Amino acid sequence: MCGVFGIHGHDEAANIGYLGMHALQHRGQESAGLVAAEDGRLRQHVAMALVSDAFDRETLATLPGRTAIGHVRYSTAGSSELRNAQPFLFEYSGGQISIAHNGNLVNANELRAELEAQGSIFQTSSDTEVIVHLMAKAREPDVIGKLQAALRRVRGAYSLILLTSDEKMIGVRDPNGFRPLCIGRLKGSFVLSSETSSFDLIEAEFIREVEPGEIVIVEKGGMTTHRLVEPAQLPKATFCVFEHVYFARPDSLVNGKSVYRAREKMGIALAQEHPIDADVVIAVPDSGVPAAIGYSRQSGIPFEMGLIRSHYVGRTFIEPQESIRHFGVRLKLSPVRSIVDGKRVVVVDDSLVRGTTSRKIVKMLRNAGAREVHMRISAPPTTHPCFYGIDTPNRSELVAASHTVEEIGRYVTSDSLAYLSHDAMIGAVGGDGYCSACFTGEYPVPLGEGNLVQLRTPRTLGAAR
Ligand code: AMP
Repeated sequence: MCGVFGIHGHDEAANIGYLGMHALQHRGQESAGLVAAEDGRLRQHVAMALVSDAFDRETLATLPGRTAIGHVRYSTAGSSELRNAQPFLFEYSGGQISIAHNGNLVNANELRAELEAQGSIFQTSSDTEVIVHLMAKAREPDVIGKLQAALRRVRGAYSLILLTSDEKMIGVRDPNGFRPLCIGRLKGSFVLSSETSSFDLIEAEFIREVEPGEIVIVEKGGMTTHRLVEPAQLPKATFCVFEHVYFARPDSLVNGKSVYRAREKMGIALAQEHPIDADVVIAVPDSGVPAAIGYSRQSGIPFEMGLIRSHYVGRTFIEPQESIRHFGVRLKLSPVRSIVDGKRVVVVDDSLVRGTTSRKIVKMLRNAGAREVHMRISAPPTTHPCFYGIDTPNRSELVAASHTVEEIGRYVTSDSLAYLSHDAMIGAVGGDGYCSACFTGEYPVPLGEGNLVQLRTPRTLGAAR
């Protein structure tokens, strides 16, 4: 997954870009990058690092100019290496262009093969690069025409921010609106960001979301809006429900709704659907906390911080060997004995993917004296991989793809295990207009042939946040 940010017309564009990306760090921790425009020239700095390590005063000083775009990356298509770190920067006959992408294209491999057959040489293994090659080949005279022509060929999920050397900042959302993209105002400047958490940090005012199938262009004269497809031709909106379940920050608004409130409602519904006699409700922090508060409020069972999360665990600790990997969850989470000892404990987590995290948590809680451990998951069973940018592994690694809830309960060794129903999850996010393919297998945009979801080295999912 990734986060994208852009600011247009601000004296400290690179510094604001740095802050904006900081507030999107949860969306990607593998690489961070900024591209800034000054006097018809784009300059780039990217690194395989967290935002705070990727930039310092000196590197930010190498990015002068009043307009900048940024990207944080957690790779889902293309490998984790510097050449795939965004924003990308390309030269073509129209000048320089930079692009930052959140989402996955489902027909990138077909397009890449077609472009290569026509002589294109790709610099990266990322799906994003096909967009720029298609733009370079388009016959339309201006950048917007080229972008529209390119995007008519690609399918899948894309929230994009582009920057041209003549200082146009362009924001786009795919016609389904899978991934978020918001517009804000910071005094006289326009800001774009994946989530409103960036706006709060830089004290920008949230204006609205870029609409599905909309292109916004910010240039000296202000902001104009263009369509990728006419409103009558738009498909049904399918915003990613997993942004609300797990991905987005709880202080953000996504798809017009508070992430915190949506998670809390999921917890309330979970308590209604799957009550249990217990002494204490605890969360798997951080993403499980609002749902656990909702569960506690609805059930009347007190909420306590029974698991403490270390905020200093880097992903580098998570080695592929099983003998070392099992330390991953213990490094990240530890139980509070005085809260769980002798108690019947309800543990709320937002999702269960492979089941390894839950299994380790149950063991940890029993070792800390818990008398009973009841796992409650504030989303339905994850049965299908995501093609649109969430790093959900292939089916063979998804425990719920091949096991019943009872079997999973036995595997995680809890006294009981229950999931939120699909209807209740959709109710908590306010109804229709969502993609929930990872829970149903109903994919709104089918995966193109030869575009199998690329998997990277195995890792403990829970380690990413
Ligand atoms: P697992 O051990 O595979 O069952 O992982 C479940 C844990 O990973 C839960 O605590 C989730 O909060 C977290 N999680 C779910 N989806 C993802 C994801 N795409 N990336 C990172 N962590 C995730």
